[in-house]
Amino acid sequence: MRSRQPRAAKQRKPGELALIERIRSRAKRTRAAELVLGIGDDCAILQPRPSEAIAVTTDLSVAGRHFLLDWHPPEVVGHRTLARGLSDLAAMGARPLAAFLSLALPGDLVRGRAAWVDRFLDGFLALARMHRTPLAGGDLAESPLALADIVLVGAVPAGGALLRSGARLGDQIYVTGELGGAAAGLAKLGALAARRPKHGKMLSIPARLQADLAAHFYPQPRIAQGLWLRNRATAAIDLSDGLSIDLAHLCAESGVAAAVDAASLPLHRGATLDQALFGGEDYELLFTARTGTRIPRSIAGVPVTRIGQIAKRRSGEPAVVLKTGARSVALEPRGWQHFA
Ligand SMILES: [Mg+2]
Repeated sequence: MRSRQPRAAKQRKPGELALIERIRSRAKRTRAAELVLGIGDDCAILQPRPSEAIAVTTDLSVAGRHFLLDWHPPEVVGHRTLARGLSDLAAMGARPLAAFLSLALPGDLVRGRAAWVDRFLDGFLALARMHRTPLAGGDLAESPLALADIVLVGAVPAGGALLRSGARLGDQIYVTGELGGAAAGLAKLGALAARRPKHGKMLSIPARLQADLAAHFYPQPRIAQGLWLRNRATAAIDLSDGLSIDLAHLCAESGVAAAVDAASLPLHRGATLDQALFGGEDYELLFTARTGTRIPRSIAGVPVTRIGQIAKRRSGEPAVVLKTGARSVALEPRGWQHFA
């Protein structure tokens, strides 16, 4: 039987078909045990282990808002697209099962050898391999605006996911890694772009700046740390919007308050306290644990720092306070607006 869909919706251009084939053959190298059927059929088929529940997260990256085509190399956009989704899985203590990627791209990003989209996939698939996350499907469309939509599917023990809502009075608050590095890197990138305005041309990034930009360009989702925290942490969230906002989310969901010790915050080299508190996109884990739970100084090679304590929520008082010595001030939940 013939499809009754309008032809234009179904018909793909030869270039598009070739690109799908290119993605399919590259995705084959990211196969994993739970992926029964990958790209090629109408649906992918996943077979999680018995007693596991499925965790799903979705994240949209739009040119001009989450990345800039003339600031961010395509590999970086690919890495960050997947990192954002994987970080959400990490925050739930989920094991990645599969990624689904939909791209809407202007034609000039798809054409030619070593096209933008191929370099995007280089960055995307390198991170996918690192976390054994198969690319199991997606969609493509030509569009005047570049955007990448990622869906991540993960597995958690049924009833055993890390939630934002489990923090209780007296719990200790921890973060993985260092804070403020992504915001500090973005500030450096912005300063570089202001010095070298080349409209429509890709910003060339001097080698000496690469290390300063790494936290912004290549954030590392804390999958192994999230898995370790299963049955140990009482609550968790990933730091996508910034400590002040994400800690406020965790407190709201748990019905508690928090006190953060400013001196204890693990600042990234070159980052300011403000960047650590309000800069987003560090993609570290923020979690709580009972006082009696032993949390080591590092988990799977990433340092862990105790930064404060959960307190009782009192109406009329701030949910989160920042303590500097004997002084305590309300920590307002505020982030920064990407490229707005
Ligand atoms: Mg999140």
